[in-house]
Amino acid sequence: MAGRRVTVAGLGVSGRSAALALTRMGADVTVVDGGDSGTHREHADRLREQGVTARLGDAETLPEGTDLIVTSPGWKPQSPLFAAAGAADVPVWGDVELAWRLRGAAAGGSGTAAPWLAVTGTNGKTTTVQMLSAILRAAGLRAPAVGNIGTPLIDVVLDEQEPPDVLAVELSSYQLHWAPSLRAHSAAVLNLAPDHLDWHGTMEAYAADKGRIYEGNQVACVYNCADPATERLVREADVEEGCRAVGFTLGTPGPSELGVVDGILVDRAFVEDRHRQAQELAEVGDVTPAAPHNIANALAAAALARAYGVPPSAVRDGLRAFSPDAHRIAHVADVGGVAYVDDSKATNTHATQASLAAYESIVWIAGGLAKGATFDELVRTSAPRLRGAVLIGADRGLIREALSRHAPDVPVVDLARTDTEAMAAAVHEAARLARPGDTVLMAPACASMDMFVNYNARGDAFAEAVRELAADRAHDVE
Ligand code: ADP
Repeated sequence: MAGRRVTVAGLGVSGRSAALALTRMGADVTVVDGGDSGTHREHADRLREQGVTARLGDAETLPEGTDLIVTSPGWKPQSPLFAAAGAADVPVWGDVELAWRLRGAAAGGSGTAAPWLAVTGTNGKTTTVQMLSAILRAAGLRAPAVGNIGTPLIDVVLDEQEPPDVLAVELSSYQLHWAPSLRAHSAAVLNLAPDHLDWHGTMEAYAADKGRIYEGNQVACVYNCADPATERLVREADVEEGCRAVGFTLGTPGPSELGVVDGILVDRAFVEDRHRQAQELAEVGDVTPAAPHNIANALAAAALARAYGVPPSAVRDGLRAFSPDAHRIAHVADVGGVAYVDDSKATNTHATQASLAAYESIVWIAGGLAKGATFDELVRTSAPRLRGAVLIGADRGLIREALSRHAPDVPVVDLARTDTEAMAAAVHEAARLARPGDTVLMAPACASMDMFVNYNARGDAFAEAVRELAADRAHDVE
């Protein structure tokens, strides 16, 4: 990198760490960002102290003499900066491409080139990568969960103090788009549903970017038997000689698959004789929460870990040690025999579909920003489970219409509110509709930014309202 003139697009977390790493390696780095707020200036000043050039308020012009662009994941491929780069024959790498190319090349040259076990998919990436990391750690390996979560990848691959043995890497479709030379040890695509089409343009382009994760895999391409699009991506990929396609299923696994038999997670892929043998890995009850989609995540994580060679006992121990991040089907409290569950992270219909499938009788709190989604399929398939629905947020009308088309008998409370306090009202309305044994599930199928800073704040507001409800009820009893 020494002497290269690199433009880093974006002053976010990954852009800042790329800029610093490249500068330490002797590159001549300019960071560009369209913003010019107080926060931008603070970040820019801190980078300048480290010898980085920072240009604010112009995200479009290609700095003079640039011979490489390193982009942050959020930047759209159509951005004028990339058009200028294309015209000037300047390559564009994402943060993942940079980390892949520099892995093991820390300043002293003694860094690690730990293999990557990579995960993508529309939903379940973070959960699966964390499960995978827990399993690998249970096998005694230094195996952080990295990528689209936590520590920037570039910092991990250049870490000389605590070099990892293997990486559990979460990759978004954006990151894969800009990572053409990545070659994982093994990789999984968990599922594929329309999302982020504003960025990718078409579903085909989105799928193609996800499919890149399989390119050059060495040991296993893990796909979802219930989602044929993921298997198609495996077939289309160009992999290393001997690399295997391994499916995961919630049903009984066939040869070369992992699946579930009588409540046991079973491996029929990484055994000596996959036509006759099945290896028990863990029990369904070892997975938290034991909802169907989450068992699928656990099977995908187990497949990648087994591809890397960890023993069955580590799969069980790792899954037992794992607990999901906040706001992902988090049980908040039981009040009056009704369970209150926060799945604020369900920001699209595919995720919400999965969580609605996990409960029998539900009062559903939904709504927010639809991001161009339609709700007919979701409501049609989930209607039999709905005791009632409470709608909030800017695009709640779309959900209300789908409910009236496909679930005309389900009582719906349309709160017609988009203020932050609306969540407390929604919880009260839901409590009114619920019967003992029901679940009040806040899985909005929408983004949160019309009402909240982010999905965390939305989940916190829900949990707070549930706690108040519990306190009120306790008070009433006294
Ligand atoms: P990601 O990192 O892909 O956004 P998360 O693990 O953070 O995934 O989960 C995001 C949302 O998707 C949560 O609401 C969760 O309940 C739901 N989810 C998790 N795994 C799956 C899956 N395999 N299929 C569908 N939805 C899922």
